[in-house]
Amino acid sequence: MSSATFDPIIGREFIGRVRELARHSDSTTNYTRTYLTPAHQDASGRIAQWMREAGMAVRVDAVGSVLGRYEAAAPGAKTLLMGSHFDSVRNGGAFDGVLGILAPIACVAELHRRGERIAVSIEIAAFADEEGARFQTSFLASRALVHGSGAIGELLGRRDAEGIPLAEAMRAAGLDPSREFAGLDPATLAAYVEVHIEQGPMLLNEDRALGVVTSIAAGTRHLVKVRGEAGHAGTVPMPMRHDALAAAAEMVLAIESRCSAGGSLVGTVGILEVKDGTGNVIPGEVRFTADIRAADEETLRDASRDVFARCEAIAKRRGVAIEVAKTHAVRSAPCAGWLQDRIAASIERVIPGAPARRLSSGAGHDAMILAEVTDVGMMFVRCGAGGVSHNPAETVSEDDAALAIAALLDFLRHFDR
Ligand SMILES: [Zn+2]
Repeated sequence: MSSATFDPIIGREFIGRVRELARHSDSTTNYTRTYLTPAHQDASGRIAQWMREAGMAVRVDAVGSVLGRYEAAAPGAKTLLMGSHFDSVRNGGAFDGVLGILAPIACVAELHRRGERIAVSIEIAAFADEEGARFQTSFLASRALVHGSGAIGELLGRRDAEGIPLAEAMRAAGLDPSREFAGLDPATLAAYVEVHIEQGPMLLNEDRALGVVTSIAAGTRHLVKVRGEAGHAGTVPMPMRHDALAAAAEMVLAIESRCSAGGSLVGTVGILEVKDGTGNVIPGEVRFTADIRAADEETLRDASRDVFARCEAIAKRRGVAIEVAKTHAVRSAPCAGWLQDRIAASIERVIPGAPARRLSSGAGHDAMILAEVTDVGMMFVRCGAGGVSHNPAETVSEDDAALAIAALLDFLRHFDR
């Protein structure tokens, strides 16, 4: 494969690997791979094997991320870190995260096959937990890599839906949760680059295979508890009820309405649970999540303030109590201008004829955490099937995968910082 063309066979092999990895699932009926489950450990082993076959030295870090290293042409060079995550949401899509691990592995395999080394050492991080679906621990693995054990200590007591504490799950997977370790030394890093499926319809609608990310949106997640009064569904008159679910339903619609103001602002209630829900009992307690995101901090702050003020007002009017706790917050992360330009130049060499499309990311990525210590760049790959992601229909074509690998390889060969 030369840097100016692409090879469809490489795309076919690549998609084969993505599909193979997706078979390591917690579920027999869909693709769900959550932190530290047996399927997750099997996927970790498979990724490590592919890294070794690509000529990389492989280690597993304290939280289970797999790191493969390919040394630079000359000693003492800085490290270009690339990567993404290999956990998934429940019933997710096979490309989310995995694309950003397997694409750089394919590039290193090609360099290795030709006996080529580049100006920097390449390290590929397959992050063990980004979605945080099992323990509600988004970005756990990149936080651990960047900031060390101190960044995850408070998460170790979290429990999964079966009540298993995170620390115990780590021990069961052969990891030591009490181990102290340092974060990355930013002085050793040249940059961090992540390839990711777009997870939206922009590139698809504009008939473009690849894009350059300009910035990643800020976001917060809150857990809202609504406490009303449980009662007999047959005996309590309607005007006397304090139905926690009816109140929560009104709050969900208030969130949707306020977050429909336009621009990059979006708001989602993804979990809603009725505690001890029973068909003939007025709901006494409901918990729901509220995920709000926007490209800039100010829009996010204003929307969050309004949303929870509306929820308070609804609670007051209905005579229910409300408790709001922030469980997750990420600042918006701009991608470095010089990396945007180089990624764009590589895309333009591989797909000549038009300037590369630049777009912001509404989804969070490990790159946000890396941006706290180094310059980050991201390349988006067109999302097929109408642009759906976090969905089993999520897909990338063989040709687009081959183009992404060709562009990334071109980027690596031109990387001399
Ligand atoms: Zn992802």
